[in-house]
Amino acid sequence: MLRIDRYEPVVGKAAIDELKMLAGYLKGRAIQHINSTAMGGGVAEILSKITPLMQELGINAQWDIIKGTPDFFNVTKAIHNALHGKEVVITKEMWKVFNDVSRQNIREMNLYGEIMFIHDPQPIALIDRKSNAKNSKWIWRCHVDVSNPDEKAWQFLKQFIDRYDAAVFSSPHFAHRMKPRQVLISPSIDPFSDKNRELSQKEIDNVLNKYKIDPGKKPIVCQISRYDALKDPVGVIEAYKLVKRYVDCQLLLVGNRAADDPEADKIYAQVKEAAAGDPDINALMVEDIPAEINAFQRVSTVLVQKSIREGFALTVSEALWKAKPVVASAVGGIPLQIKHRYSGLLCHSVEGAAFAIKQLLNAPEYAETLGRNGREHIRQNFLLTRHLKEYMLLFLSLYDKDNVVTLA
Ligand code: UDP
Repeated sequence: MLRIDRYEPVVGKAAIDELKMLAGYLKGRAIQHINSTAMGGGVAEILSKITPLMQELGINAQWDIIKGTPDFFNVTKAIHNALHGKEVVITKEMWKVFNDVSRQNIREMNLYGEIMFIHDPQPIALIDRKSNAKNSKWIWRCHVDVSNPDEKAWQFLKQFIDRYDAAVFSSPHFAHRMKPRQVLISPSIDPFSDKNRELSQKEIDNVLNKYKIDPGKKPIVCQISRYDALKDPVGVIEAYKLVKRYVDCQLLLVGNRAADDPEADKIYAQVKEAAAGDPDINALMVEDIPAEINAFQRVSTVLVQKSIREGFALTVSEALWKAKPVVASAVGGIPLQIKHRYSGLLCHSVEGAAFAIKQLLNAPEYAETLGRNGREHIRQNFLLTRHLKEYMLLFLSLYDKDNVVTLA
């Protein structure tokens, strides 16, 4: 059985037939995805799932990673923060580090895609190679919340963006004036991945034992995210402390490191400090084991995503897919997933998050309804199959009019 056919009971036969039909028009085409980390964060999560499916459908899709130095990733993290509107100083020396490492990648990388699919700012300068490969098409895929970027950082990137054939964003709020065609495509989750598939009770118990978590003790409020200031883990602790005055519960924070994110240890130290002295807070720094994340989500009573800025937040889709009630900030791509009071609760502050968490802990039936609606919303809009279809339509649309397929 083809892997793609497994999705049929979830999304319907017509959706799968459509994918096969579209893939037929792209058979053998070389699509090269490039990003900056093989592990950690949503981009790696998506590429690890979508690339094999494209291959199975007959597209020659590959995924490569740029090389970077610690200095380079310090600079790209500063750019990332600046794009999210944070005030950061990016010095001349820092831009030089970015340009030097970019030039090295431009010189050394094997770029063979007929369609070059460049993810996020780190590899953006590879567009310099476009002139050597005249027939190739270049897509810049922005996973970052650029609704309100620092102007200097944006202008720096824009000189590259303007040379692409298309730019893809996750939310309409991220649109800007630019030369390339802009396309709105939201990310997605894979319902059959280890992170999202059903788990047996034994698998769940193994994770609970490993991390000494007892869901029977008190309801679990949980946030799963890289330790990053923009995910506001300390704000989650503050919200939990407000909730705790009224409803007894435990807080589980789960986070990891990404190869291209140098700030995780600093933020983790801040979290440990904020959590000190409370035996009901468990702040874990974990390795990348998807089934464990799945188990953490399944044993939680309420999942939180209290981000200050957010590209999309796959963690919200993952939680909703498990029919969990979610409290999340109304930023970036989150409102696409959570319709307030229908498929979760949106918040705008620590106090707002605390109010919403308390409400869900006190009203399990209401929480269950939100979770159920959330799962259906994800099924209809944010599964891998929809994502794959929109990417294939984008690829086809990049070619001459004669090559564009008209869908009846
Ligand atoms: N994640 C993980 N382990 C962790 C924390 C997060 O595997 O300790 C995963 C999470 O389940 C999700 C991805 O990393 O699949 C994060 O994607 P998201 O879009 O939420 O945020 P990003 O990190 O890309 O900003």
